[in-house]
Amino acid sequence: MRFATKAVHAGVRPDPATGAIMTPIYQTSTYVQEAPGVHKGYEYGRVSNPTRSALEESLAALENGRFAAAFASGCAAIDAVLKQLNPGDHVIATHDLYGGTYRLFRTVYERFGIEFTFVDMTDPGAILRAWQPNTRLIWVESPTNPLLNLVDIALVAELAHARGAAVAVDNTFATPYLQNPLDLGADLVVHSTTKYLGGHSDVIGGAVVTNDPQWIEGLRFQQKTTGAVPGPMDCFLLLRGIKTLHVRMERHCQNAQLVAEFLAHHPKVAWVRYPGLRAHPQYELARRQMRAFGGMVSFALKDDRMEAAVRVLSSTKLFALAESLGGVESLIGHPATMTHAAIPREERLRAGLSDSLIRLSVGIEDAEDLIRDLDQALEQV
Ligand SMILES: *Cc1c(COP(=O)(O)O)cnc(C)c1O
Repeated sequence: MRFATKAVHAGVRPDPATGAIMTPIYQTSTYVQEAPGVHKGYEYGRVSNPTRSALEESLAALENGRFAAAFASGCAAIDAVLKQLNPGDHVIATHDLYGGTYRLFRTVYERFGIEFTFVDMTDPGAILRAWQPNTRLIWVESPTNPLLNLVDIALVAELAHARGAAVAVDNTFATPYLQNPLDLGADLVVHSTTKYLGGHSDVIGGAVVTNDPQWIEGLRFQQKTTGAVPGPMDCFLLLRGIKTLHVRMERHCQNAQLVAEFLAHHPKVAWVRYPGLRAHPQYELARRQMRAFGGMVSFALKDDRMEAAVRVLSSTKLFALAESLGGVESLIGHPATMTHAAIPREERLRAGLSDSLIRLSVGIEDAEDLIRDLDQALEQV
């Protein structure tokens, strides 16, 4: 099956009891057994739920993976992966990482004896320089958040596998429509399904997809043992969102390209980051690794003061000032004070996250209206 067909059909079949075309919301905590241990594959809601099973099958199909495990949030999915490691293990991660991932690594897992090194993975040599005998996992984001740097996933997988470490790719920004890390050699794909997969800013969720039976066994064990699983209603909302993923992504990409080109020519803008611009330092990699370039755009103002950014951020009328991304409606955000506030300023600046950096999640509205909104907001500086 091709992607669009999978988005609509994978994991979903008419309800055997009634023929309902939509997967029912199995709002139940437990399942009646015919005799002790004789059941239909479901025993208790923390362990498994049919609505969740449908979602997991759909997510696995979209990422060309064999298995998926759904979690209560993207952070819970990341947490479940980290729990497969042991004290004394070492992780190499991209340095301009989602703020919540950084916080989880530094404030929770360092306390439990896992070591982290954050490197600029646009330079694969940096990964080798950070390598230690106890390196077990490489944590990749591509495109990165919020600078939209790309990491050559196939190359990182090759380096890691030659040295016996696994590779996890947070594919939230690209979505399975634009990029399939398992096909590029990654061992794990992680999603915040809250974002493009849900697509309507109405649900929090996460998932891990893998081809590896050992990894999925560990992840399912975490679902059962630590219990950060999504409820059936949330799984239903995600299944519903996924059906239009490919259609929404097409429009997100078209709109983002137009917005990025508009900003690139604007006199008040210092620079724009979008993988679909020729000026992006990894434009060639973007063309090789992604089907299109996504809905996220970052830019900095020539006036680099925090106040200038705040002016723009509080002047847009269509772009709503909010954290998160990937919904049908356009959002504008300020990494320095919002999504990346957990990263110390010095470290933030070193990673290129300046005070005037603005991040857009370009929605699926009319591109002309979006550009007009940004134009009048930039007038205010
Ligand atoms: C939002 C996000 C997460 C965390 O997901 P939640 O669903 O908010 O827990 C992780 N990685 C990336 C890239 C994200 O954008």
